Amino acid sequence: MIIKRFYNERIESLCTRLLYFMNTIDSYCIVAGVLSFLAMSWINGKEINFPFFIALSIAIYLCFKISDFYPAYLFFTPLFLFFFYKLPTFNILLTLNLLGINIMAFVIIQTLFMGIPDAIIARDSTIPIRKIYNSFFTIAPTTVSFLMSVYFSSLISFTLYYNPNPFIDPWQLGLWMSLLGAAFITRMLRPKNFISLDSRPSITKSQVNRVILLNIDGCRLDRFQEAKLPFLSSLEKESSYFPRGLQTVYRALTNPAFASILTGTIPQVHGILDNNLGGYIKVEAIPDLVETILYGSMHVKHFSKTHWKTKIVSLPTHSIYRTDDIVFDMLKKDLLNSNGTRLFIADLSEVDFLGHAYGSESYQYLQALQRTDTRIADFFSWIETHGLLKDAVVIICSDHGIIRIDHSYLLFKAEKFVPCIVVGKGIKKDNTLVFEASIMDIAPTISYLLGIRYPDHCRGHVLLEVLDENESNVNSSPHCREGLSITNG
Ligand SMILES: [Zn+2]
Repeated sequence: MIIKRFYNERIESLCTRLLYFMNTIDSYCIVAGVLSFLAMSWINGKEINFPFFIALSIAIYLCFKISDFYPAYLFFTPLFLFFFYKLPTFNILLTLNLLGINIMAFVIIQTLFMGIPDAIIARDSTIPIRKIYNSFFTIAPTTVSFLMSVYFSSLISFTLYYNPNPFIDPWQLGLWMSLLGAAFITRMLRPKNFISLDSRPSITKSQVNRVILLNIDGCRLDRFQEAKLPFLSSLEKESSYFPRGLQTVYRALTNPAFASILTGTIPQVHGILDNNLGGYIKVEAIPDLVETILYGSMHVKHFSKTHWKTKIVSLPTHSIYRTDDIVFDMLKKDLLNSNGTRLFIADLSEVDFLGHAYGSESYQYLQALQRTDTRIADFFSWIETHGLLKDAVVIICSDHGIIRIDHSYLLFKAEKFVPCIVVGKGIKKDNTLVFEASIMDIAPTISYLLGIRYPDHCRGHVLLEVLDENESNVNSSPHCREGLSITNG
């Protein structure tokens, strides 16, 4: 009731932005680190030299940005501690106190900006405690990871409190050199994006009138297969599918990965590097080229360009358990009424959300997969009743996987590989595809199917292997799979 009374889409959009500002490590660590430093200075009556404090904040933050907050940075900790120990201002008790304040900041911020909102959306008051517990075992560049959040914010607090001046003595210079050197080494150790070799035939005609993309958000391939979902398993006989999955992109978060699905290129090119404020798609994407409607929770609005047609379902108003049903209802209505629209993209949220709330190893995540399977089964029986599959292709995929309660660094297979099933007019049935492919191959494949041009920065490979050669006049000869390469993204 209270939610409905005060709700409007602008407020939800703002709140979601704020949530992700406090969730993303790039912004979280500076807020928590500076606040912890100010709290400690206030407790101890320490005077703050503001110009120097600002210069130090910028310098340490630059080091972290260079490292991209990648966990390899943590391996250099003994070196940093050695140099901190050599500073004349260093004090072990103070260090432990600063660490304690940073842990408190973590618990408060995580509970306020993640635990409580998630409890409201899932209507389950145990979620804040579950999240705190699971955050000890989660490694991600977000406030869902205890280790990463407390590490980077504490390092900021230490630097600000002990204010090492590199111009005073070699130990202080040594600290800065190690912080910076470690950052550059860490940057080189980041995961490389897998990009399929360019293979995009010239497009002369459309293969189908419509494409429907169903994205099961946060669906890890291994759990998807273990679940033995009744409908989606049975759909394999009717479809072309990837038992080894598609690979997602780094950082494997919804907004960057979805933007890669729509543009066919890596985050460094399309411009959305995380879920935070400030990232927007800078290059051409499929919805720029063909009339498209995108459905889902507020995320969808945040990665979409402002002129795209989006239909958003409010998570707090409807709860996570109703959201995907509403998405399907809207989608069905538009499939019957929006004649000019040729691409429909639905982001299904329940699997991802329950993964973040309970863990992707949990029974709840498995149940969300089961319910999503049932929803897709109902949707397929509906489109078949209405004869809509006669001139359409449905792609069922995911943007990224998940491990424990988060995802991003691609440290584990569970984050990296996602399912992909293609079914519909002209698609080869019972067709197992085992070559390496990427979520970036989806954009050129949609272009090819709809007979529109490829987005201007699109890379990768049209998945011609899904096409039934008897039904289409495309030459999908095996040679187009040659030379797949792993390219540095
Ligand atoms: Zn996602």
